[in-house]
Amino acid sequence: MGTENVAQGEGGAPHSKPPVVHPRSSQYRWMKNEWRANVYLARSRVQGLGLFAARDIEKQTMVIEYNGTVLRNEVAVRKEKIYKSQNRTVFMFRIDSEHVVDSTRTGGLARYINHSCGPNCVAEVVTFERGYKIIISCNRRVEKGEELCFDYQFDTVEGQHKIACHCGAPECRKWIN
Ligand SMILES: [Zn+2]
Repeated sequence: MGTENVAQGEGGAPHSKPPVVHPRSSQYRWMKNEWRANVYLARSRVQGLGLFAARDIEKQTMVIEYNGTVLRNEVAVRKEKIYKSQNRTVFMFRIDSEHVVDSTRTGGLARYINHSCGPNCVAEVVTFERGYKIIISCNRRVEKGEELCFDYQFDTVEGQHKIACHCGAPECRKWIN
């Protein structure tokens, strides 16, 4: 991996886009190279497969990038209907009141991170390298072998099928949605 080429626009003025200086950009680059050493996939104690810490990870360390597409709510609702009609397993989670990340088709290990009501990680959206990146970071120190989790923050929709939560956190809300 070389250094980032910030002015690689083809045909455009080479200096039309100044580099975005972000205090966490160097940490991001480190994570892009090192994430495989941070995690492993294994059977979850919550459900199905889960992602686990492969080493002790300090608080606020970027663990892995969540590969997905940031969608506005309306688009996400439409896509979800399409995926369900195709019998796909839908991987989506909310970043804020207007945006949802869709990782149904983009794969990546981060989508195996389970929900918890008392999570050890957070998903945050940052803008690096001219686009949205969704980064999973620890919100506390995580020990090797711990299952990684974050709060999916699903919307509560009246009349919708409820999904029971088995995260085991003391503050568990009993339902994922
Ligand atoms: Zn819970």
